[in-house]
Amino acid sequence: MSFEKFKLNEKILAGVQAQGYKDPTPIQLQSIPPIMEGRDVMGLAQTGTGKTAAFVLPILQRLMQGSRGYVRALIIAPTRELSEQTHNSIVQLGRRTNLRSVSIYGGVNINGQISKLKKDVEIISACPGRLLDHINRGTVDLSRIEVLVLDEADHMFDMGFLPDIRKIVKHLPAKRQTLLFSATMPEDIRSLANDLLINPVNIKIGHTAPVETVSHKFYPVQMNSKTDLLKDILNKTEMDSVLVFTRTKSRAKSVALQLDKSGYKVTSLHGNLTQQKRQRALDGFRDGRYEIMVATDIAARGIDVTRISHVINYDMPSTADAYTHRIGRTGRATKTGDAFTFVTGEDIGLANALKKVLGEKLEYQNIDGLTMSMPVDDRTPLRRNTSGRSAKPSKGRNHFSPKARMNSRPKQRSFDSSNRSQWAH
Ligand code: AMP
Repeated sequence: MSFEKFKLNEKILAGVQAQGYKDPTPIQLQSIPPIMEGRDVMGLAQTGTGKTAAFVLPILQRLMQGSRGYVRALIIAPTRELSEQTHNSIVQLGRRTNLRSVSIYGGVNINGQISKLKKDVEIISACPGRLLDHINRGTVDLSRIEVLVLDEADHMFDMGFLPDIRKIVKHLPAKRQTLLFSATMPEDIRSLANDLLINPVNIKIGHTAPVETVSHKFYPVQMNSKTDLLKDILNKTEMDSVLVFTRTKSRAKSVALQLDKSGYKVTSLHGNLTQQKRQRALDGFRDGRYEIMVATDIAARGIDVTRISHVINYDMPSTADAYTHRIGRTGRATKTGDAFTFVTGEDIGLANALKKVLGEKLEYQNIDGLTMSMPVDDRTPLRRNTSGRSAKPSKGRNHFSPKARMNSRPKQRSFDSSNRSQWAH
């Protein structure tokens, strides 16, 4: 089914076309009609499924009807990056609509935001803390909001934002449409949804990205061999752009530094960076100046880089859900990707739990001198592997070594079927 069936205004369809979207994704198919009818929606979907357009398109449609010049839609997101990305999607999809959108988040000077808010803005994408700041200063008027979106609600809960959200909601009209999106549904989110949503349509999009379109490889390894293993994989595997996850900010920084010393085009993203540096790192990763980004979970939430070919878990995530979120960065929308996870002795419990979820999709890898032999259960210690099967480099010319990259052509970053074999449409 194409987007025409939704009967969106042709100016909005022009935005969809300009973005290169041909067919709606499952979450768009299921959410757009009820949202356009004005229903509340509770969407269980992770990032990478096309959920932003699923709520942005009906919001644009609604706002094109009715009067202009005051704030009518509010989208609340947990991180600055997500709030900026949503704002960008609104700008792109709504390029012909003349609707005005602004993003509001902390870490940057408030005065620029205050002057933007004075310019007849109709849509706000905001992080909770800075939005409350504007409410308290009286620099934003939310009294005529028609649609409220809570995006990545579970992350907002993880980051302790739920009390702020409840405070913000008190400044909105009771009569409004509310949409809540979350990748998981912990009890606190369920109770928030019960309080805020009225007779919602429930939509559930399975964890399709990790299970269906991503291949998963686990490397049993000792902590002190991780960086060597990482370099070995980067050298041997054909990769496009790679997101590496570490557990701590300091490790993100030190791994990036070590890769940089070895000649890789690498940047890092973690909470200790100023907003300007975070944006520079993200822009550089998006436009291909950096081929590797080393990030912590919080910093990487919601990152939308169209072609992340590989996610490497340098450190294992702490829960199966966190694994799903990380892996959601690759295999986005209709593409495929690879996920490599380094498993130390401490991680065996979670590795076994993930093994049950991933089943046949999961492969254990051995690389002589770098990996350990995988124990059958979590009571068996890991042993260094010296005679196992050695991982062969994948076929193709552009292996991810600094030298090979010097000879390779600049890479194109878009939805495009000419991408190499890592990607399937
Ligand atoms: P999201 O889940 O909103 O972060 O979207 C993930 C990625 O999918 C973004 O790069 C979107 O631009 C892209 N996308 C969204 N909808 C579609 C679509 N219908 N067809 C192709 N790509 C899409």
